[in-house]
Amino acid sequence: MKQEMKHSPIPYAKQSINDEDIAAVVDVLKSPYLTTGPKVKEFENAVAKKVGAAFGVAVSSGTAGLHAAMAVAGIKPGDEVLVSTMSFLASSNCVLYMGAKPVFVDSLPKGFNLDPADAAKKITSKTKALVAVDFAGEPADWDALLALARKHKLVVIEDAAHALGAVYRSKPVGSFADMTVFSFHPVKHITTGEGGLVTTNNEIFAKQLRKFRHHGIDVDVVARDAQKTWKYDMVELGYNLRLSDIQCALGISQLKRLDLFLSRRDEIVVGYDKFFGSLPFVDLPPRPSTGTGSRHAWHLYILSLRLDKLTASRDEIFSFMREAGIGVHVHYKPIHLHPYYSQQGYKKGDCPQAELIHERMLTVPLYADLTDFELARVETAFQDCFKRFGIKK
Ligand SMILES: *Cc1c(COP(=O)(O)O)cnc(C)c1O
Repeated sequence: MKQEMKHSPIPYAKQSINDEDIAAVVDVLKSPYLTTGPKVKEFENAVAKKVGAAFGVAVSSGTAGLHAAMAVAGIKPGDEVLVSTMSFLASSNCVLYMGAKPVFVDSLPKGFNLDPADAAKKITSKTKALVAVDFAGEPADWDALLALARKHKLVVIEDAAHALGAVYRSKPVGSFADMTVFSFHPVKHITTGEGGLVTTNNEIFAKQLRKFRHHGIDVDVVARDAQKTWKYDMVELGYNLRLSDIQCALGISQLKRLDLFLSRRDEIVVGYDKFFGSLPFVDLPPRPSTGTGSRHAWHLYILSLRLDKLTASRDEIFSFMREAGIGVHVHYKPIHLHPYYSQQGYKKGDCPQAELIHERMLTVPLYADLTDFELARVETAFQDCFKRFGIKK
């Protein structure tokens, strides 16, 4: 049994569920409300408070949150929206949902986050919004991005699916963009199974987000008249993007351990930095400089392979590590290179920096429940890998 455990593969990410989480879910199952009940508001308030936002709107996924944010930003066919190409597809699919056009922004020359200078170059009279991801949990260059957005009157949507708990220059992620979208997929910092939440300081946006997640029905009226009338009015086309009380109860319970999760991630990163920092075969992940008041939330730990010092490509190293039972991964292929996007005219060369770094990127396992023993297994496997593929001087 021990032996079997030792050889079970280590994933790149994993949820952390305890008995309290389970009890919280069971409590809801025994209560009158499985959905649209009190746990939704409680979860929304808890997340909003945690990230210093005035309002929180829970939705069925991070993708649903991005979709709702696009709708509330008023994005229409003919509009252009700037999007980090180095991100998960959901960051730009939400633009396509509105019939609008994503305009992909390249990565920084040194880093994974989007380059504000490239964003500035790509603004036209049709540009209406910006979707910027805090990549891997590292806050983007928000001073530059917000200044750019104010100048050109763009709605700023922060894709913070990687960045719950991150801080940008002393301001928590979730407290400063027009709308910030979090995801509670099991690979993220906290989970509700599937789930997401949009934070905003704009009361009108909050109301519109609630309407959009509930079929386009004016929910304020529903709430006010709930006791007196059957009437409700659908005023625009919306969807059912609600998050259930079952999921919100799990989220409330998980959120209580967010700080613990973040500090364990920090600890693992210290270990990885020490190990990988001593090797000539990789560059360490980018991060905010110390003393800036920023905090990396370390959703992902992504190495940049020094391909000039290796006899293997990233994909060969990926296969070697997977063979060794280490769940390395690649985040991400730049969005504009996916076939669906190629068919719409996006092509190689559109974002050269992102394309270049993509070839070198390798995500290493990182999650709160990763044990020191597993960490050592990851490091041993990498030692074997570099023994095999590293070029000796
Ligand atoms: C996970 C993720 C999303 C989508 O979140 P879901 O909850 O899975 O819909 C969006 N953007 C980024 C960058 C993500 O990592």
